[in-house]
Amino acid sequence: MPEQIVRLMDLQVLDRQLQELEQTLATIAGKVETLREQNASNQEELQRLTEEDQQAAAARKKAEKDLAEGEARIRNKRMRLNMVRTDKELQALTLEVESLKETNQRLETELLAMIESADPRAARIKELGELIAKGRAALAEGEKEIAAQVEELKTSIASKRRERDKVASEVQPNLLQRYNTLFTRRQGIAVALAKGGSCMGCRRLLPPQLFNEIQKHLQIHFCPNCQRILYFEEKPAEQES
Ligand SMILES: [Zn+2]
Repeated sequence: MPEQIVRLMDLQVLDRQLQELEQTLATIAGKVETLREQNASNQEELQRLTEEDQQAAAARKKAEKDLAEGEARIRNKRMRLNMVRTDKELQALTLEVESLKETNQRLETELLAMIESADPRAARIKELGELIAKGRAALAEGEKEIAAQVEELKTSIASKRRERDKVASEVQPNLLQRYNTLFTRRQGIAVALAKGGSCMGCRRLLPPQLFNEIQKHLQIHFCPNCQRILYFEEKPAEQES
């Protein structure tokens, strides 16, 4: 088998192991990441509700003040009712009092709505506070739990990558580039076995002439269909029948 093919096959084994290690690392880190995201989202909601609560308290204070002022104004108008002399004045003042009463009633309804909506918000704020405290503890616990595993995986990945880079440096640059592209685009199989006249990468029949050439091991050939780098394995004699 051409020496370059042997290198590429080694490279493919290493790359697949590397991929697996990185996948494991991502999965482990992902568990903690989910906790972290949940915490951040709770924290965000808490901040939003707290601000809302502060604004609502200010609005409530203002409504209470307006209501008190309205009541004072009504009292004032009522006192003047006793002093009017003409029917016209009486009618005008009565209308004013009615209008002030309406305004106050509206303010009262608003105030009651504000008081009602404050309750579930306060409950959620309390709940969020507890959730965040629990979430932080779970995150710290999770981080502690995976720390050793992550460290170990990172070390394995680094050493595997060094090994991989060493093998890669022994492959011709053009071929390596082709291999790298294929490895990514062909789901981790860049080098495929040619067997029984077919490419085992894409399962298509190879032109007979090409299959013959591959078996001569004189140069590197590619599958005309999937572009994979092809190799041929001599069958051990005892398996031939
Ligand atoms: Zn193919």
